[in-house]
Amino acid sequence: MNLSDQYIASTYSRLPVVIVKGSGCRLWDSEGKEYLDFVGGLAVCNLGHCHPNVVKAIKEQADALIHVSNLYYTEPQTKLAKLLVENSFADRVFFCNSGAEANEAAIKLARKYTKEKNGNERFEIITMVNSFHGRTIATITATGQEKFRKGFEPLLPGFKYTEFNDLDAIEKAIDDATCAVMVEPIQGEGGVNCPSDNYLKGLRKICDGHDLLLIFDEVQVGIGRTGTLFAYEGYGVQPDIITLAKGLAGGLPIGAMLAREEIAKSFSPGSHASTFGGNPVAAASALATINTILDNGVLGNCIEVGNYLSQKLNELKQKYPFVKDLKGKGLILGMELGFDGGDVVKECLKRGLLINCTMGKVLRFLPPLIVTKGEVDTMVRILDDVFSGL
Ligand SMILES: *Cc1c(COP(=O)(O)O)cnc(C)c1O
Repeated sequence: MNLSDQYIASTYSRLPVVIVKGSGCRLWDSEGKEYLDFVGGLAVCNLGHCHPNVVKAIKEQADALIHVSNLYYTEPQTKLAKLLVENSFADRVFFCNSGAEANEAAIKLARKYTKEKNGNERFEIITMVNSFHGRTIATITATGQEKFRKGFEPLLPGFKYTEFNDLDAIEKAIDDATCAVMVEPIQGEGGVNCPSDNYLKGLRKICDGHDLLLIFDEVQVGIGRTGTLFAYEGYGVQPDIITLAKGLAGGLPIGAMLAREEIAKSFSPGSHASTFGGNPVAAASALATINTILDNGVLGNCIEVGNYLSQKLNELKQKYPFVKDLKGKGLILGMELGFDGGDVVKECLKRGLLINCTMGKVLRFLPPLIVTKGEVDTMVRILDDVFSGL
């Protein structure tokens, strides 16, 4: 830990543990202490840690071919694109390595498509207050939170923010320069904020009415997290572009942007690229991850255990008046406290439980989608113990 603090850029405030091993919903630190993991690598380890199907796929691919460049075709990348297209609204996939890069690709594609269709004046993208879209200059600009942008000005021109869940505000914000609306179906980093009943459908209607693209950032809520493979499926709305990353490859770095053919064809050879994008090992790992999610009842478990967790958190809410609100869907759940949650996170860590807190006061639960009711019971017992000692 001292060496890490000495040599690594100090961009993270880490909790004082060195994690060395993982299996399912369990992690172990360098002292041999066991933890129950309700962070899941921040919505990355959707099949838990070191799922045997994922480990096997990575090992086999590493033995065969690790990297070759996008100058050539590779099998895992092609198979993964086919699987994503066959299970979504989209016709084509662009691969990269992270959520921010997937959103960069979406921003570039939206601009290029709109310019080709409507001329140079339309380039502006409307995003939401309290959104999170990544840490590159373009994506901190897209992110509707001042704290991520401060100090990095000048920002990229061409972004506007409106309040989440406010359709009138979008109507008012649209002008001759607008080309797209970009939104997380559920705001993750921003405090697990869910869309109100007709919000996403309303956005679709507004975008259709004004000939705008609708982009869903599913980096956090995609890949089964809300109980469907993609979050948009659960809201009966089809976007024009979606972005994926976190959970896509079961723990290896990957990002993807999916779009309909009409839009995707604005990207031609040379338009965009990524050296590692769709790397064979990451793609093989993603294939194993998605096939396991689709074939092993993981989505059903997400809904069932998600409902159970929600119910148990509600019992805690009844018991402790400082619990202000519960929100979320499937296995992305948030519990808003009346005070900063940092100490709760630290007390849970001492008791062998990993949870996360976002926006200062919102405890965020993102366990692997294979979590059991028994593990939920253990988690709730620890949280109850911590709450009772406050
Ligand atoms: C995490 C996240 C990102 C950024 O992903 P990185 O892989 O860290 O670049 C973008 N959008 C959303 C919704 C996220 O949760």
